[in-house]
Amino acid sequence: MTMITLVRGDITEQHVDAVVNAANSSLLGGGGVDGAIHRKGGPEILSACRDLRASHYGKGLPTGKAVATTAGNLPARWVIHTVGPVFQVSGGDELLLASCYRESLRVADELGARTVAFPAISTGVYRWPMEDAARIAVETVRGTETRVEEVRFVLFDERAYEVFADQLR
Ligand code: ADP
Repeated sequence: MTMITLVRGDITEQHVDAVVNAANSSLLGGGGVDGAIHRKGGPEILSACRDLRASHYGKGLPTGKAVATTAGNLPARWVIHTVGPVFQVSGGDELLLASCYRESLRVADELGARTVAFPAISTGVYRWPMEDAARIAVETVRGTETRVEEVRFVLFDERAYEVFADQLR
């Protein structure tokens, strides 16, 4: 049974086995969560991402997929990078957003991670409406079989926190 918890805060400060990064397909960093993770985690993460690009993802990590690296200096063991869909580009295809959560949990299981922190994937520059994103996130985690014991949603602002809290009620 996976416990779902909710925290208002910064995902880079979570003491968990794995933190999920709302990455972009290049794996070379960006703004939002991605920028914060690379800034705080240090160059080891970018270096691992470059290696992954060279070995497997020359054309980029596809939307909805997930891959793990070291967490560098973060208080976590791994970063699981997943590429959320851009709301407009995907036409709001919720299977793609659900896939980010499912694939990240699959990678977490492969790693043996027991605690995993997720941001609200695609709700920043990728513009997915928060209510819909929260519903998809919660439904997908509830519907995924995993050995992860705690899934922690880490919401950056009060409004996002309230939307997720509503979804869990
Ligand atoms: P995407 O490109 O998938 O939309 P963003 O990083 O732009 O990803 O935003 C995803 C969500 O993460 C947004 O709701 C944003 O407010 C939130 N966010 C930004 N920085 C952090 C952080 N340090 N910790 C947790 N959530 C964050």
